[in-house]
Amino acid sequence: MTSNARRFDAVIIGGGHNGLTCAAYLAAAGLSVCVAERRHVVGGAAVTEEFHPGFRNSTASYTVSLLDPQVIRELKLAEHGLVYEELSAEECVAHEGALSETAGSLVGALYFPRDEVGDCHKFIQGLARHAQERGVKFLYETTVTGLRRRGRRIAAVLTSQGPVEADNVVVALGSFAPALLRQVGVDVLIYPVKGVSITVARAPWNDAPTHAIIDDARMFGLVPIGDRLRAVGTAEIARYDATPSPARAQAIIEKVLQTFPGFSRCYSPATAKVWAGLRPVSPSGVGYMGRTWIENLFVNAGHGHLGWTMSCGAGRLVADIVAGRAPEISLAGFPRLAAA
Ligand SMILES: Cc1cc2nc3c(=O)[nH]c(=O)nc-3n(C[C@H](O)[C@H](O)[C@H](O)COP(=O)(O)OP(=O)(O)OC[C@H]3O[C@@H](n4cnc5c(N)ncnc54)[C@H](O)[C@@H]3O)c2cc1C
Repeated sequence: MTSNARRFDAVIIGGGHNGLTCAAYLAAAGLSVCVAERRHVVGGAAVTEEFHPGFRNSTASYTVSLLDPQVIRELKLAEHGLVYEELSAEECVAHEGALSETAGSLVGALYFPRDEVGDCHKFIQGLARHAQERGVKFLYETTVTGLRRRGRRIAAVLTSQGPVEADNVVVALGSFAPALLRQVGVDVLIYPVKGVSITVARAPWNDAPTHAIIDDARMFGLVPIGDRLRAVGTAEIARYDATPSPARAQAIIEKVLQTFPGFSRCYSPATAKVWAGLRPVSPSGVGYMGRTWIENLFVNAGHGHLGWTMSCGAGRLVADIVAGRAPEISLAGFPRLAAA
């Protein structure tokens, strides 16, 4: 043990959704856990910014289903609890009055009655509090710069605040996981795909949608979150640049206005909050979870556009493996972590 190194049973690298859920489950299993996060806040791609004194806003919207009915039938997903209804244009308007504005061009929709929308900021804040109450230590403004490997084990996590030692190391760095893992010969294929969200106060638009809507044809999502409305969309290959592009935001707005002309009542460029973030996408669209060829090095990253949706299951699965328990969720079908 290095004299000035702090020591834990497990170090989680990255304080986004997937790092936090894993930390909480490991603390619940009785391990001493710390989360090393380079920012001053937890939350990662769902972090909340104060874009003006007193104005806080979680910056990503969350819905949970984007599936083709044929896939649902072929994979017998209904047997696994996925419920949906195929709606005619008239039935769409009956379910969601705001669609009356576009009834003329509407063919129909898939309706997922069990689909949920949530405020990821509240989720992240609540989860961080929950984890802290169970003893998880948060190392903020702590950038992980490397991993010290000794044989087939990680001896220490090297950070901007000094080394941290642990029996187990979990890499939950989203799009940033490949760069760190490559240093110790572990390959994961994860690439950042930028997405944009535009958030407005919904108040001036009384008949605004009450359901989360995904318009596959026009490639946007419109999601009611409390007293706000969030439009999301685009998949931009821009390496690690998370700067929101005004042109892409404008393109989303124009598409939303085609389906919902009423959106013009609550959208103003002056007050709309435009944000962009990086979805950590793997080639299969499914994340990497589990142990690497390095005995005490684990990965929980690459969950793409469903990172929040997957975070509790992924966090639980990886925590089970770290804690030496047989995971309740099978790893069959998930990308394998390459052997050395
Ligand atoms: C516009 C948009 C809309 C989305 N909508 C949805 C949705 O509707 N439903 C859904 O489920 N998902 C959605 N997502 C995807 C979801 O946000 C991500 O998949 C998820 O946040 C990834 O979480 P993560 O914890 O794996 O990684 P991240 O959130 O990227 O967290 C990684 C963390 O590691 C930290 N970090 C990076 N490098 C270092 C380092 N060297 N040292 C220490 N810390 C470091 C970062 O600061 C960050 O906090 C959306 C994403 C975008 C961009």
